[in-house]
Amino acid sequence: MARPDSLSNLPGRHFLFVPGPTNVPERVLRAMDRPLEDHRSSAFPGLIGPLLEDLKRVFRTTTGQPFVFAATGTGGWEATLVNTRSPGDRLLAVRNGHFSHGFIECARRHGLQVEVIDVQWGEAAPPDAVEAALRADLGHGIKGVLIVHNETATGVTSDVAALRRAIDAAGHPALLYVDAVSSFACMPFKFDAWGVDLVVTGSQKGLGLPAGLGIVCASRKALALVPDARCPRSFFDFGDMMKANAGGYFPYTPALSLIFGLRASLDILFEDGLDNVFARHHRLAEGVRAAVGAWGLETCARRPEWCSDSVTAVMVPAGVDGADVVDVAFRRYNLSLGGGLGRMAGKLFRIGHMGDLNELMVLGALAGVEMAMRDVGMDIALGSGVAAAAALYQRSARNLV
Ligand code: PLP
Repeated sequence: MARPDSLSNLPGRHFLFVPGPTNVPERVLRAMDRPLEDHRSSAFPGLIGPLLEDLKRVFRTTTGQPFVFAATGTGGWEATLVNTRSPGDRLLAVRNGHFSHGFIECARRHGLQVEVIDVQWGEAAPPDAVEAALRADLGHGIKGVLIVHNETATGVTSDVAALRRAIDAAGHPALLYVDAVSSFACMPFKFDAWGVDLVVTGSQKGLGLPAGLGIVCASRKALALVPDARCPRSFFDFGDMMKANAGGYFPYTPALSLIFGLRASLDILFEDGLDNVFARHHRLAEGVRAAVGAWGLETCARRPEWCSDSVTAVMVPAGVDGADVVDVAFRRYNLSLGGGLGRMAGKLFRIGHMGDLNELMVLGALAGVEMAMRDVGMDIALGSGVAAAAALYQRSARNLV
């Protein structure tokens, strides 16, 4: 079957269920569709000052300093590391999927030494192993701990608060670096309460924008390291950014259309109420998990408490290639799913359920997943997962209204 040249050639709406980029709400699209402005005008700080303050509300911090770079999550990783570290510094990291591997590689490319705690892909970051590694570091040579809050490749969420407790229990001064690229604005994140020192996110996931903003937040403890951190940096320098941001400006031309979009995205989040947004993500995810159970399949996440509310990775049986499910869903049903990444290639497919979504959209996607699974030879009863999710959504709706 021929693949269409462009998704816009297909009738109806495309079903975008990859775990980022996500649907961009109409209101955000309209906010971005406007003429550009002078980013050095006297009116510009009126946009930037409140925007940075409002980002703090989503990070749940009063003392942290947010940064908005024209970048993506990968650029955000780099920004956190080069501003706080010097070549040769030692870090501890948990590797439980493709993106935690990427964070580690980013650090290594900057000349940092990373001690890795490898766990099975499908498991969360283990606080006890982190505590043990830090207790063994009697000289406090380890300067930071790298964690991915929501490992998008496996659909596993780690307990950041427990990881902070593990660092504290070891009496260790290491900074806590957290990748919240696919959890931010989807599930609670408590920068201050969890004692996070650096966190990274991107615009194209829970915020519902196109890719193009790498958003970071740094604690006072992290900022105190910047003057002495010797990793080379120019574009990502926190110092330049803070100096310009203090007056409501940027040290270079900002990605203005995306910033207009971010303003609208934050407005939507606050109008919905962050707790309602998180509850909706949880509800939608529960429906997807109910469907997976009804299909007789397993999630990659090995324990229920590790299952992510923004993405579900579904293991396929031996003899089936998860990439075929993804391809058939795309070609035949106009449905984009995520494939297996890194060592999970072929073993699973991923359903992204983050951002601007509701129950009926998820049910439509689940119907497409069922057809695609049958098309590649899996023994799935049509409607089984849809019915399980719909029953759950109906119960929740009765409780809500
Ligand atoms: N970290 C996580 C958890 C991700 O899911 C992604 C992208 O999917 C990244 C980092 C990399 O972000 P980006 O693609 O925005 O550079």
